[in-house]
Amino acid sequence: MNTGASELRGGKRGRETMMAMTTLALLGALMMGGCKQEPSAAAGVEQKPTVPAAQIAAEYDPPAGTPPALKVDGKRAFELTGQFVAIGKRPLGSEGHKKAEEFIESHLKAAGAQIEEDSFTAQTPVGAFPVTNIIGKYPGKKDGIIVLAGHYDTNYPLRNVDYVGANDGGSTTGLLLEMAEEFKKNPPQGYSIWIVFTDAEEAMVHWSDSDSVYGSKHLAEKWKQDGTAKKVKAFLLLDMIGDKDLDVQRDDNSTQWLEDVVGRAAGRLYHSSHFFQTETAVEDDHLPFKKAGIPVADIIDIDYGYNDVYHHTVQDTMDKLSPNSLQIVGDVVMETIRALNTK
Ligand SMILES: [Zn+2]
Repeated sequence: MNTGASELRGGKRGRETMMAMTTLALLGALMMGGCKQEPSAAAGVEQKPTVPAAQIAAEYDPPAGTPPALKVDGKRAFELTGQFVAIGKRPLGSEGHKKAEEFIESHLKAAGAQIEEDSFTAQTPVGAFPVTNIIGKYPGKKDGIIVLAGHYDTNYPLRNVDYVGANDGGSTTGLLLEMAEEFKKNPPQGYSIWIVFTDAEEAMVHWSDSDSVYGSKHLAEKWKQDGTAKKVKAFLLLDMIGDKDLDVQRDDNSTQWLEDVVGRAAGRLYHSSHFFQTETAVEDDHLPFKKAGIPVADIIDIDYGYNDVYHHTVQDTMDKLSPNSLQIVGDVVMETIRALNTK
């Protein structure tokens, strides 16, 4: 993702303006009459198909009596983030990158996941690099998969400064590994859970469609080819969710009914003050999977520090993060999984 300011530093791209949800709600109300009108057949406009019932977010609200969702351990997620970030920078082709892979795989193994690697060579504007997406699988009892994902690499252009990406790549790695530990203790009773650590999310020179999300593009294409894409019920991407001042934006580029399911999950946990109070459009690891026909939601706080000042700078360090933010996001993701499993 990325704001205008971070784009200058070679970051993910997001729309600069954010509108308060109140404004959006008002706009929505004003526009509703026009948008909801059915085009008349006489006008020769093709009628759009109605939204299938399965995609109405409220229908995913868990009925009374449904067992509660798992809770994450925010302190443990923070601790894992700290250990991972202590490896240091982890750009493609570096020693730190290798150590990052080993860290993730050893923790996934300890957490009882079935581990799979998706390795390939990425052609980038600055040469060819080995790229490895790491997948930890927890088989469920229902036919279908819920994917949780986050990237673990740090920016190649920042390889010569002390940039560790504590929030950007670190926070999600720590939280996803802690969630893996929860799935070891409580194996999925619904859909299978696949935890994907994407690689080469960051741009090698400057963010563009061709210079970004190398790992995700490869994995999404693979899943499209081998039929996995059709089995994925939801792809929940986490990015930069450790910020002490947690404000997860609503993402216009995500699948909107799935965003609604996430928003309703946040509401049920009384965390709405941290979710979707503002809105933007984010370019991130979720887009290749959306292109492959998978419902996607990017859970991202792209406003990191005042006016995104820490993003892609050496200021992205552990002291800017909080266990509480990891707890909130982790719990909302668990509640979202509970909701998705009602269908
Ligand atoms: Zn980044």
